[in-house]
Amino acid sequence: MKLDDLGNGGRITVEVLVIGAGPAGSVAAALLRQQRRQVLVLEREQFPRFSIGESLLPQSMEYLEQAGMLRAVQEGGFQLKNGAAFGRGEQYSEFDFSDKHSPGWSTTYQVQRARFDHLLALEAERQGAAVRYRHEVVAIDISGHRPCVTVKDSEGEIYLVEAGFILDASGFGRVLPRLLQLETPSNFPVRGALFTHIEDGITSLQFDRNKILITVHPAHDDVWYWLIPFADGRCSLGVVAETAFLARYHGSETERLRSLVQEDISLRRLLSNARWDTPARQIVGYSANVQSLCGSGYALLGNAGEFLDPIFSSGVTIAFKSASLAAAALARQFAGETVDWRAEFAAPLKRGVDTFRAFVESWYRGGFQRIIFFAKPPADVRRMISAILAGYAWDETNPYVRDTERRLAALEGLCYQR
Ligand SMILES: Cc1cc2nc3c(=O)[nH]c(=O)nc-3n(C[C@H](O)[C@H](O)[C@H](O)COP(=O)(O)OP(=O)(O)OC[C@H]3O[C@@H](n4cnc5c(N)ncnc54)[C@H](O)[C@@H]3O)c2cc1C
Repeated sequence: MKLDDLGNGGRITVEVLVIGAGPAGSVAAALLRQQRRQVLVLEREQFPRFSIGESLLPQSMEYLEQAGMLRAVQEGGFQLKNGAAFGRGEQYSEFDFSDKHSPGWSTTYQVQRARFDHLLALEAERQGAAVRYRHEVVAIDISGHRPCVTVKDSEGEIYLVEAGFILDASGFGRVLPRLLQLETPSNFPVRGALFTHIEDGITSLQFDRNKILITVHPAHDDVWYWLIPFADGRCSLGVVAETAFLARYHGSETERLRSLVQEDISLRRLLSNARWDTPARQIVGYSANVQSLCGSGYALLGNAGEFLDPIFSSGVTIAFKSASLAAAALARQFAGETVDWRAEFAAPLKRGVDTFRAFVESWYRGGFQRIIFFAKPPADVRRMISAILAGYAWDETNPYVRDTERRLAALEGLCYQR
């Protein structure tokens, strides 16, 4: 029976329920449809809807390909991305992802997430997933044989969905972590971001629209800006800092962001012709963690599990990776095999997340910045770092994946001796 013939009333039963139609949810839904599973996706918002997280990593292309969504994304008219650039005062360092240790994709896109996420959700629907917008999961009961959620639809009507398995891809909504009290604090200090979209008016020929530009604040190493060019002459612009630092700036979000941009001379020059036509927004305290990424009848995908930090643009790649691992585990489970979700889903996911974590920690203690701005690492080491910046954080042939913390500490140590 087709899911949409089931109606909303009372209680419905599905093989797999996906909570949230962000990148993790849509890719998981498509991968499960490839296994011919019956998939219902419940999404709280009406799409297209704004989301932050616009610079993808090349590794993510592999999962779009797996999910049968690559062509739609390639034809979506998004800005090509081939690397990452870092600036601090007069210093500049860039990584071209074609020069990297790991095999695989070396380009990707910088995407307006409203359009990108909608496109992925439409692709999941095209592959047979039922996607219900403005249907919010408000409660869960895991005491029975199968988990059962309570849903509130756009009319305020309540119904129940009993599922063979639940994938929570609710992002910062963090539905199951909240409802099942799985949340644990992140080890990172509470940071926030101010951000907007601008018509950038950039004329500098040195500015490379194919790369994200990360600029370190001239006086505070732990404060940084992103500039993510889009294909239409616009950019996503944001600044990240501890919330106490952001609180020093007064006025509207736009005024605060403009004041911070004024403090960096290179950004100020680059954006001197920009038209600020969209009110800025603020997001705070986004880093989050959980006790466990899986439990009886459910698994947590993407941001619903853990979110580290935006510095290396790893969020969507981790979201896709989690969807891919969960779909593979579910294939075995539905085939009647016993799946150890911790060993087959949580542990392999954590491997790459921990690689990114070590890089994020190195960034904020200033070590990574010294490596890229002051040291001239040998070409092979640069290629290993480039691979991780391109998202290949699970490639065990890379010594900076196998032995991340020790390698990074050694490299940082060399810089401090100079
Ligand atoms: C400041 C900042 C900058 C970032 N920059 C980048 C970047 O450049 N590149 C990158 O890859 N990542 C970036 N990220 C991270 C990125 O935004 C996330 O990692 C990514 O969106 C996670 O995808 P997801 O599918 O897990 O969740 P989401 O994209 O958040 O999707 C979750 C969906 O679930 C829905 N939902 C929530 N609650 C419910 C409910 N109760 N019922 C039904 N549906 C629900 C939501 O409406 C949403 O559509 C950034 C994050 C921050 C904070």
